[in-house]
Amino acid sequence: MKTQAMFYEKLKDKIHCFLCPHNCVIENGHFGKCNVRTHENGELFTINYGEITSASLDPIEKKPFHYFRPNTEIFSVGSFGCNFTCGFCQNYSISQFKAESRLISKENLVETALTMKNNIGLAFTYNEPSIWYEYVYDCAKLLKETDPNASVVLVTNGYISEEPLKNLLPYVDAMNIDLKSFSTGYYKDLCGGSLQPVLKTIEIAAKHCHVEITTLLVSGENDNLDEVEEIAKFINSVNHDIPLHLSRYFPRYKLENSPTDINFMREAEKIAKKHLSKVILGNV
Ligand code: SF4
Repeated sequence: MKTQAMFYEKLKDKIHCFLCPHNCVIENGHFGKCNVRTHENGELFTINYGEITSASLDPIEKKPFHYFRPNTEIFSVGSFGCNFTCGFCQNYSISQFKAESRLISKENLVETALTMKNNIGLAFTYNEPSIWYEYVYDCAKLLKETDPNASVVLVTNGYISEEPLKNLLPYVDAMNIDLKSFSTGYYKDLCGGSLQPVLKTIEIAAKHCHVEITTLLVSGENDNLDEVEEIAKFINSVNHDIPLHLSRYFPRYKLENSPTDINFMREAEKIAKKHLSKVILGNV
């Protein structure tokens, strides 16, 4: 559903969107980089409000969270669109394309979540929740106001500006944030983004909610022990006890590199454990 967007300012004949660090300046009739926010005659609209492409009751460990309400299940939903263009995206059919969706109101989503058996709350995942902001914010707020014990979790690339992040955090219990690499070149060339804003998101989020980090180790791209150590050192500088998930890459979407070497995964785990109390291997 098309609805008025938050976090923008009008320029002379363009619009500046500052929801995410891309800071798109959008001409009338055009979309921002995420392909979900569009300038129409001096106003900014988002087109994915309430549009659900995927929904499932998943084990919390699948998000992945290993230290937040373990052995529970959470109602997980996603829409379409992303502000990154990762060549290895596991969910490219909904992140890079306007996938088929079903409109569900915030009231309906929250009621479904609260009446679902064995469900602890709502997870915004599958595509990037940052650029589904208005709906995520409305549903998270309504869920917490209706049942403060229900949990809201985000699985995100962390590419969101400070103001919207701080506005949303009071309604968020846990975030799994991708730290895809410690290289600015990797973020620029493989993801179409930048590293520093992600580091900032991790620092801010860790002060407000439970945080776990995921790094996908991609063969031939970031399967480098020095880089794994830099990632672990940075996380340690925020909090020694933040869990780090080192996830094994398999070929997907545009990237055809071979699956990441298992021995390398084990070495990476050892290096990260020098700096962090919780390191988990995923996809192995
Ligand atoms: S949310 Fe979309 S339109 Fe706004 S700055 Fe980010 S990519 Fe651009």
